[in-house]
Amino acid sequence: MPRKKNGLGSFSPAPVRGANSKTNVSGVKKAAGSYPSNRRYGTLALRTVIESYDLNSRWVRWRKGYEYFSKAFYTNFQTLVTKMYQGQADSWDIEFTGYKFPTYNADSATHYVARKTIMPGQTPNLGTITGIDNDANTDSANKAEREIWLDVDSPNRILNRMLLDRISDGENEATIKYVLNSHRYPAVYLAKPISGDMPEAWKPLYGEDTGSILFVNVPLTTVVGTQFMIENDNNIQAYVGLTGYLPVPMEANKLSDITEDADNIYTHMVHTPINQKFQILDSEGALPDAIYNISLLDKLLDTDVNTAVGVDVLMEFPKEPYQRFFGSQYMDALTALSQVDTIFYAVPPWTVKSVGYRYRWELQPGGSFELVWYVQFEAAPFKNEVYYEATKSPRFDSCTLLLTDYSFTKRTPLPQDPYVPKGFSSALNTDVDPWMDETFTAGGNLKPAEMYTCSCPDYAKAQLRMPGGQKQGGKKRNRQERYPLPSALSRQDVESVGLNSVAGITQGWGTYKDRSDFHFCKHTAAAMFIDGIKLKEPSDYPSLDSREKFDVAMEEEFDKLDEAFDIQVRRSEITTTEIVFALAQGLNLDEIEMANLLLETKF
Ligand SMILES: [Zn+2]
Repeated sequence: MPRKKNGLGSFSPAPVRGANSKTNVSGVKKAAGSYPSNRRYGTLALRTVIESYDLNSRWVRWRKGYEYFSKAFYTNFQTLVTKMYQGQADSWDIEFTGYKFPTYNADSATHYVARKTIMPGQTPNLGTITGIDNDANTDSANKAEREIWLDVDSPNRILNRMLLDRISDGENEATIKYVLNSHRYPAVYLAKPISGDMPEAWKPLYGEDTGSILFVNVPLTTVVGTQFMIENDNNIQAYVGLTGYLPVPMEANKLSDITEDADNIYTHMVHTPINQKFQILDSEGALPDAIYNISLLDKLLDTDVNTAVGVDVLMEFPKEPYQRFFGSQYMDALTALSQVDTIFYAVPPWTVKSVGYRYRWELQPGGSFELVWYVQFEAAPFKNEVYYEATKSPRFDSCTLLLTDYSFTKRTPLPQDPYVPKGFSSALNTDVDPWMDETFTAGGNLKPAEMYTCSCPDYAKAQLRMPGGQKQGGKKRNRQERYPLPSALSRQDVESVGLNSVAGITQGWGTYKDRSDFHFCKHTAAAMFIDGIKLKEPSDYPSLDSREKFDVAMEEEFDKLDEAFDIQVRRSEITTTEIVFALAQGLNLDEIEMANLLLETKF
């Protein structure tokens, strides 16, 4: 066995040209392993152990990341300030800064890494830790589920919306899988518009149509006076295609109808929120709506609170994920919803589909009726999430966070002494076992974690596919050459509905474990080194034999990258879709929001 190397600085970057110079001038190299000659749907590619290792090993990502850093194969890109959980009550300002890395595996020859940091003075307090269940003997059921349960006092209700996001106590970080209320029953059920069959009981009532329906009525007198209308000769059709926005998240506490079958609970909500403002935003620009900090966009229409909003939505959520928290008691609709005190939903920025005139007779102060004209804006059909939440006393005085036990990391400050490489201010350890190591301790305060995200398939477990194959240097690039065919290894769970419905833009194959793990690719590793975070060498260190093969392969890869780096430097424009993809992952958007965001991107 080779001695395990100890962190940074114990090796030098690969030589520019070693003993194994390339002999394959075509650049096409047949990989070892068993591959079918016919790569149609249904065939299976079997990688060798080495190939699989090269793709999957955390150590390999770490080592290549160091190489990008030490060879300075990167450039910066501009920063962007936006909001986390935009449109929701407890949102906070964040800043993305980032780096561009050359690749020979993307149309743009570039991958983007975005570092997400919270703007100074904006850090929300998410609650105080009161205990951690990390005894492998007494908490064996949790261990089997790969969950560490963390008890939190005075929790911020935004935690209910932070599933799959990461929390920090300043040193330890982990990914939130789920939240339980004060009584350790579900604190949040996530419902989505009915996407499959309408329940039998409801077909006579609601027909077969599903999806969110939303109308906004603004008094005509409010609409006609605006500068935008004057410029457009008071033609209200000028609003079609622009972005509508309801800035205040909405809360309801009543459902119009409930039904259920063996698998799902179905709800019908008709809601007319009061005190809602309405804005039409000038969204012309390179990035789609939800990426922007909405407050920076020009408002073509900005109403006060006398806007009438109508929401009519049929929602569903499955029983199966929540049943286990009720033990032997069967979770029917009544049992489940008895834990809920608030129905929370935010409507993401939407596209105005149609505009028309409406009128109604309204009672005047003098007792007479008068005809009042409205302009009605209808939203293009969209999907959003509705949260059935516990938010009030006594259901949410405390909560329990379920953290995935494989997602823990620990970040510690580095003293500036001669043994620490210059420029490194902290160390990040990704080999943390919360069943063995001391992690979150009682008394600590929780906050959102900083994050690095990347547009590459290795980070996202999804491939962006842009129209038209790009040719570079006369060679056609195959975007899927090194990653599993999504048709063979794609996600099977219900949440994939959003991304699968925009096939042609992205296809993902990440499992739940991928999404609830600490994400980390060679580019984000490099970005951490660049930013002075000394990423500790992962423990899955390869054998000497693998290491030698790896060194040769890495040298060839970085030779090719020299060419890609040239291309990137020549091409200075930003590839919108890839940058949006990188940033969107940092915003913890759900699958449907992510899909909408990518669809709205102007190619
Ligand atoms: Zn990456």
